[in-house]
Amino acid sequence: MEKKITIAIDGHSSCGKSTMAKDLARAIGYIYIDSGAMYRACTLFCMQQGLILADGTVDAAALESLMPQIEVSFRLNAATGRPDTYLNGKNVEADIRTMEVSSHVSPVAAIPFVRAAMTAQQQRMGADGGIVMDGRDIGTAVFPDAELKVFVTASDEIRATRRFDELKAKGENPVFAEVLANLRERDRIDSTRAVAPLRRADDAIVLDNSHITIDEQKQWLLDRFHERISTLTEQP
Ligand code: C5P
Repeated sequence: MEKKITIAIDGHSSCGKSTMAKDLARAIGYIYIDSGAMYRACTLFCMQQGLILADGTVDAAALESLMPQIEVSFRLNAATGRPDTYLNGKNVEADIRTMEVSSHVSPVAAIPFVRAAMTAQQQRMGADGGIVMDGRDIGTAVFPDAELKVFVTASDEIRATRRFDELKAKGENPVFAEVLANLRERDRIDSTRAVAPLRRADDAIVLDNSHITIDEQKQWLLDRFHERISTLTEQP
């Protein structure tokens, strides 16, 4: 039987990583894990517990003592065929995708003990291979030995337009300038934090998807997957 590999898809905010990761996982029969959803669920927990302070910073001391109470999991939604995110047994899939969560998530995700807890859980989820995980540090910190690594990016304006359309389709009332500012700010915090910053792994293949269609991107990724599998099978 063909060996099941680990696939890491990292990149900037809102560049369609999760769409391509989900499509690939479905096409090749792998499990898809959205690591960003885990940081978003932690952020929602902070908001619910009043741990986001008035100046936007996080009450890290209080969060640290409550960390053992955070349980994030994924369950397949039979209607959509996609995994939904659960926080302590409650479906929070819609709640974690709001602008409010987006505006607080990067400071929460920069906290070292939050990263340690999420990274450990992600490593357990992917211990047997056969997964496609997307995020910011999957190819660099979570699975540095992943057999296939992709780093995705696109222009700021194109990413903001995609995110804006997505929020509108969900019934939110986004302001384009805010969406653009939010993704730039998240990229800044994600790229400059001390622990596991967003950066391209040296062995990652770069994909700028500014001017390609979702179908072209899907095929591109599938081709990279088959290419990688064939090099691995050729190896003695
Ligand atoms: O992928 P998504 O945009 O949903 O991720 C939300 C946020 O979670 C990112 O902006 C980043 O701050 C954080 N994140 C991270 N490491 C990951 C995945 C996401 O720090 N592996």
